[in-house]
Amino acid sequence: MNKVNFATVWLSGCSGCHMSFLDQDERLIDLAEKINLVYSPLMDVKDFPENVDVTIVEGAVGNEEQLHLLKTVREHTKILIAIGDCAVTGNVTALRNTLDNGSEEIIRRAYIELTDVNPLTPNDVPKLLKRACPLNEVVKVDYFIPGCPPSADLINYVLTEILAGRAPNMEGKAKYG
Ligand code: SF4
Repeated sequence: MNKVNFATVWLSGCSGCHMSFLDQDERLIDLAEKINLVYSPLMDVKDFPENVDVTIVEGAVGNEEQLHLLKTVREHTKILIAIGDCAVTGNVTALRNTLDNGSEEIIRRAYIELTDVNPLTPNDVPKLLKRACPLNEVVKVDYFIPGCPPSADLINYVLTEILAGRAPNMEGKAKYG
């Protein structure tokens, strides 16, 4: 059986959705028989490859670097899955959108107000977008897995269906939060 090229991407999220992915436990062994993991924060690959079959993306789009990466992911991926509420709705990552000049406010709060030693505004981190936004505001998303984080069972169900060539039926299975 030909294996599916599979990637996972971490944007502005807490990594909880990747932890839930890993919570599939022994089912990861079954998954490993069906996929080639070609890009992930779980491995050391710098550039997103071409010809990826399935990519799951955690986190909202918060900065210019992530915006560029997500567009590249979309360009090189057949099936793109938003995993977790941050990717699906913006969730906690997008709370800053409620502030006037939220992108500047959180930089000042993190690097100036809460810093005891040498407070300064960094100039070597990716520039924040004015708004943190869910994936589907930037690219087409094929499937959504809500939850904060989604359960390992739900992630496993969706991946099992997609890898079998079926569309997952999310009715009654998924919830936000
Ligand atoms: S959806 Fe929840 S668990 Fe996933 S990255 Fe966002 S805050 Fe973390």
